[in-house]
Amino acid sequence: MKPDYQIIGAGLIGLSTAYALLKRGASVRIIEAREDIALETSFANAGMVHASLADPWNGPGVGRQMLGSIFGFPSPMTLRLAALPSMAGWGLKFLKNATPEKHWKATKANYNLAAYSSNLIQCWRKELQITDGYQDLGLLKIFRDVPTFTKSRTLTDKLIKNGKLIKNGLRAEYMNGDEAAKLEPSLAAISDKLVGAIYYPDDYKADAYTFCLALRREILNLGGEILTNTTAKSLLTDNGTVIGVCTHMLDLRAKTTIISCGAHSSKLLKSLGVSLCLRPVKGYSLTFDNCMDAKAPKYPVVDDGLHCAVTPLGQSLRIAGTAEICGFNKDIRQKRILPLLQMLRDIYPEVAKNLSLSQGKLWHGFRPVSADGMPFIGEVAPGLAVNTGHGHMGWTMSAGSGEMLADLLLGKPNIMNANPFDPLRN
Ligand SMILES: Cc1cc2nc3c(=O)[nH]c(=O)nc-3n(C[C@H](O)[C@H](O)[C@H](O)COP(=O)(O)OP(=O)(O)OC[C@H]3O[C@@H](n4cnc5c(N)ncnc54)[C@H](O)[C@@H]3O)c2cc1C
Repeated sequence: MKPDYQIIGAGLIGLSTAYALLKRGASVRIIEAREDIALETSFANAGMVHASLADPWNGPGVGRQMLGSIFGFPSPMTLRLAALPSMAGWGLKFLKNATPEKHWKATKANYNLAAYSSNLIQCWRKELQITDGYQDLGLLKIFRDVPTFTKSRTLTDKLIKNGKLIKNGLRAEYMNGDEAAKLEPSLAAISDKLVGAIYYPDDYKADAYTFCLALRREILNLGGEILTNTTAKSLLTDNGTVIGVCTHMLDLRAKTTIISCGAHSSKLLKSLGVSLCLRPVKGYSLTFDNCMDAKAPKYPVVDDGLHCAVTPLGQSLRIAGTAEICGFNKDIRQKRILPLLQMLRDIYPEVAKNLSLSQGKLWHGFRPVSADGMPFIGEVAPGLAVNTGHGHMGWTMSAGSGEMLADLLLGKPNIMNANPFDPLRN
């Protein structure tokens, strides 16, 4: 049977889009290259739903940092020389967007979508009956130097002011190190090293993979179809209209095809002459299972300067972060992993003293990062739409992006302004 919609990619974004469409009565097929759903970037991310971190990574000054990284200077984003040729066009656009005005414009648009989406994820978690027992405690950002703290406060103040324009504005509380340690006692050992902290009560921790598994269950319950081990090789067109995709085995047709292939999304579009300015930015996580006791940390904690996060997830503790521009290079670089463990030691020396690298489950994923830091959501050609490019915000924006695209495709009024995410923007 030819479904109304056919979604390529079963990560957070593809599954959320499918669920939103099925809830609106459409028929949906998902095509996934891997042997199962959500085994790529949605598998072991930092597990934080964080509208407060909606600012794109190409803030003013990022060019200097990236250049420095080539010569070995410490930087939250590293650029590998070998990746330079394939990154050139994207890289230039990425830097061109690093002006204060453009960065703020993207931050505002992202924040609105992220705040809307994080409320929606909570509703969906109830609908999907996800009972992981996690409390919505909020998120704590800690700072070890005054310039990063000041920069983050300034942005937070702006978002609080802007937040008043929408229903659920950003809430934040500024703290000193002692106050942060009062909230999260596991930080007591390092409270004297902190110049400050920001507590965001509306952010929360939640496991993205658990969410994907629950979405799959409900998608199947609602009559959706999921084909795994099936790679979309190219688009099938008829007179300029996309009528489906060719896979290695057969052609699969649908009224509308939606590309949600994460960092791989731009490949399929090339044949149509549609160019999404999107590149992979690699990140790692290290998960220690069964290492939690009564005194273990409870809050997700972000170290903004290092682009790293530590999230307690049930009986596990996950450290995630690093941003490496290296194409789709899957090598595990010790240089990028050791700082993760070191960061855990720097934040929670007591917890970390009994842990070694070999005990952790190592994972890496490729964030689909757009050159202007905003996702691409909408139609790109007759019969073809995209939902991708969510960078470091894909978990947070998943439900909201799914609903946004479903409403756009079905011609229903959108709660959010979808214009900033127009995939055909320059
Ligand atoms: C270290 C790290 C930490 C992160 N932490 C957070 C966080 O705390 N909060 C947050 O909001 N975000 C976080 N993110 C970002 C978030 O994980 C991603 O934005 C999100 O997972 C992207 O989802 P996706 O569905 O677009 O892509 P993916 O999960 O990569 O899914 C794309 C799917 O498409 C499939 N596919 C690709 N090509 C084809 C093809 N041709 N045919 C069929 N199938 C295909 C792939 O196999 C894959 O399953 C983090 C990312 C990383 C790397």
